[in-house]
Amino acid sequence: MNSQAGQVVVLDRDGVINRESASFIKTPEEWRPLPGSMEAIGRLSRAGYRLALATNQSGLARGLFDEAALTAIHRKLTACAAEHGGKIDGIFFCPHGPGEGCRCRKPATGLLEQIESSLGCELRGRWFVGDSLRDLIAARDHGCQPVLVRTGNGIATEKLLENNNLNDVFVFDDLLEAACALLRAKNWRKPKSG
Ligand SMILES: [Mg+2]
Ligand SMILES: [Zn+2]
Repeated sequence: MNSQAGQVVVLDRDGVINRESASFIKTPEEWRPLPGSMEAIGRLSRAGYRLALATNQSGLARGLFDEAALTAIHRKLTACAAEHGGKIDGIFFCPHGPGEGCRCRKPATGLLEQIESSLGCELRGRWFVGDSLRDLIAARDHGCQPVLVRTGNGIATEKLLENNNLNDVFVFDDLLEAACALLRAKNWRKPKSG
């Protein structure tokens, strides 16, 4: 193994792993993976990365679905990832609404703190892949490497980077392209001296 073994990659869920829906993902049937996302998760897992999901699920606070439904959705996600050799090490969600002033709804960084204490890791410098501005802001504010994908809200989000002081964001077409880039970066070597 190498020095990256066991490093955590943080992923947003909707618009990164599965299709975004303005009317929320309320049932396992409505949960549909984006092309290549399951392969990306499989590749990262097989390379030794640990994967943590950080997702705002205000549909809970809005009463659109309950925790049992969310658990069923995540069971489908986990099973689908497993078919591709992928393992999700933890799913961390904010159940609150926008007006509740909680510390976990992105762009707040509470979910990232939960990941660190639950998985016993340090997220500084680690990749956090999202499609929305609030993902990138949470990543930046917590010292992660913000990574934007052009799926979900990603194309609209890309236009907002400059005005939000987000100049060090990596941008990829989708999660598979991001995963491949991370795996290539892992193999970067310093030239031998002498
Ligand atoms: Mg999203
Ligand atoms: Zn919250």
